[in-house]
Amino acid sequence: MLTNFDNNTHSIIMKVGILGATGAVGQKFIRLLQGHPWFEIEALGASERSAGKKYKDAANWIEDVVLPNYVKEMTVQNCEPSAFSNVDFVFSGLDSSVAGEIEKAFAEAGIPVISNAKNFRQDPTVPLLIPEINPDHTDLIKTQTFTEDGSGWIVTNPNCVAVPLSLALKPLYDTFGIEALILTTLQAVSGAGYPGVASLDILGNVVPFISGEEPKVGPETRKLLSSLSDGSLTLPEFDVQATATRVPTINGHMISATVKLENPPADLSELNEAYDNYKNPIGELDLPFSPKALYNVHDNDYYPQPRLHADAENGMQLHIGRLRKAEVFDVSFVAMAHNTIRGAAGGAILNAELLTKKGFLK
Ligand code: NAP
Repeated sequence: MLTNFDNNTHSIIMKVGILGATGAVGQKFIRLLQGHPWFEIEALGASERSAGKKYKDAANWIEDVVLPNYVKEMTVQNCEPSAFSNVDFVFSGLDSSVAGEIEKAFAEAGIPVISNAKNFRQDPTVPLLIPEINPDHTDLIKTQTFTEDGSGWIVTNPNCVAVPLSLALKPLYDTFGIEALILTTLQAVSGAGYPGVASLDILGNVVPFISGEEPKVGPETRKLLSSLSDGSLTLPEFDVQATATRVPTINGHMISATVKLENPPADLSELNEAYDNYKNPIGELDLPFSPKALYNVHDNDYYPQPRLHADAENGMQLHIGRLRKAEVFDVSFVAMAHNTIRGAAGGAILNAELLTKKGFLK
């Protein structure tokens, strides 16, 4: 690895591995890491079905850009730490049925893991990280015991619904407090990986249930909004009622939420001000994947729309619309973000950038 810190500019080349490189999230990592100023891909891992094959033969490339030549010819490895001895850290887009054991093995081998999988998200020593919400939670890494010298650790990013929901709630939570919320998601098909939902189930249709999705929303949102002190988290107590649905959009998960606030504002304009005044805690760091404008609060009632807005700011922006006084509870809104970028690979890359800036990755 080469590192050179010069005030706020940071020229660095770190070698990264991607676990689950052949899947939908793994492919997004490969696409997004092209030309990244700090990270370059050194190794790719997947299941025994893919190991030993050239990437071009192992993966069914579903990104709408050409597969980079050097990646085409890379040989896919088994997800064993010994095959990743040259990397500084790994991103994980592993299926959750195997992510737990594999990620633990990498951390125990002294290889930091930045994961998209759910397995360690609720571990009290593992940060569930969105840099614009809880960058201080990286300090939980110091409480992990995967290695004696602290060289191996795990950081997770949240489920692709908890990401836009928590980003949308954070300014409201800080300004008014939250007592309860009810939400319904409209989740894009790319969230189900590849081949994902059968076309006969989703074309011209809405599926009113996504297995395993609803139970993650409340716990992850509470952990993201929790406060860290003396190595442990104090979680907020608000209740969350979530209904997760699959809709025939390709990218961009939409959420319709209604929130009961602890101290509701007298004037609706204070809601907008909460977003305008929110101080992005990493705003000054100039991280490559940080959106210039974190929030786009639309005043056009017909916005946001996944097809029009999911790609804004390289897919890293959080969109809010229909911000209004609610007849039941206090405030209603819709929130939307790109699920495989902001809600998965892009969010994980931003986490790695923050962890680099803070000196955890070196
Ligand atoms: P996916 O398309 O099904 O990809 C799964 C990956 O895991 C593939 O690379 C697969 O390799 C690999 N894998 C499966 N079994 C394995 C084994 N026994 N050993 C090693 N590797 C194995 O899934 P995805 O949509 O990319 O999701 C990946 C992870 O990210 C999941 O945990 C998911 O919950 C999470 N996530 C997804 C999204 C999203 O929007 N899609 C958002 C947030 C989080 P082979 O190709 O060799 O089978």
